[in-house]
Amino acid sequence: MPKIHDHLIQVQKRLAQALRQSQRASDGAQLLAVSKTKPAADVREAYAAGQRRFGENYLQEALEKQQQLADLDIEWHFIGPIQSNKTRLIAENFDWVHSVDRLKIAQRLNDQRPAEMAPINICLQVNLDREESKTGVFLDEVAALVESVSELPHICVRGLMAIPAPRKARDEQQQALQPMADVLAQLQSQYPQLDTLSMGMSGDLEAAIAAGSTMVRVGTDIFGARS
Ligand SMILES: *Cc1c(COP(=O)(O)O)cnc(C)c1O
Repeated sequence: MPKIHDHLIQVQKRLAQALRQSQRASDGAQLLAVSKTKPAADVREAYAAGQRRFGENYLQEALEKQQQLADLDIEWHFIGPIQSNKTRLIAENFDWVHSVDRLKIAQRLNDQRPAEMAPINICLQVNLDREESKTGVFLDEVAALVESVSELPHICVRGLMAIPAPRKARDEQQQALQPMADVLAQLQSQYPQLDTLSMGMSGDLEAAIAAGSTMVRVGTDIFGARS
């Protein structure tokens, strides 16, 4: 049984220290706990330790956990690849989606968001290293996609998300992520609702905070390795 409570406190400390070292406000970044492949009991344990935001990658698994955890006040984030035939269940069951990589997906989420719910918050996923194996738009395509998506009334476009190719050295990690912050800053004058840079995981949290991340997505260092 992993000591989720202790791990969570360790990650919160790392986050606070990284913010201090970058001379950023102590509330300048939020922690998203990534609970994919982990049982509902683990989410409940993290919740008992104060964690409220959870990220899931696989829709069916997420829906099952949501049912088991319906008594908790959790903010659910969908962070996995999106097939267009799955958008309705995502639109109906999540507060945030980090992995929107094309207009068609945004349009479907918009059309399928129930009218009585607040607009769904989305980040546009960027394929930062232009890897063929990864989804996401290229950085030079982001502005055009933001323009189209910002017209959709049941969506609130909040920012950008990336999963960079792994790098060991911290300054290389930071360098790779920096263009995300630059592009977001350029867009912010026209789209003030853009306040989110979703980047940084267990292995590059510090570099991501130095590069301006406002939401780190941490799985392994909270819940333990995934089998
Ligand atoms: C699994 C996953 C994470 C968490 O990664 P860790 O290395 O376990 O912290 C973050 N973001 C996305 C999109 C993921 O799929």
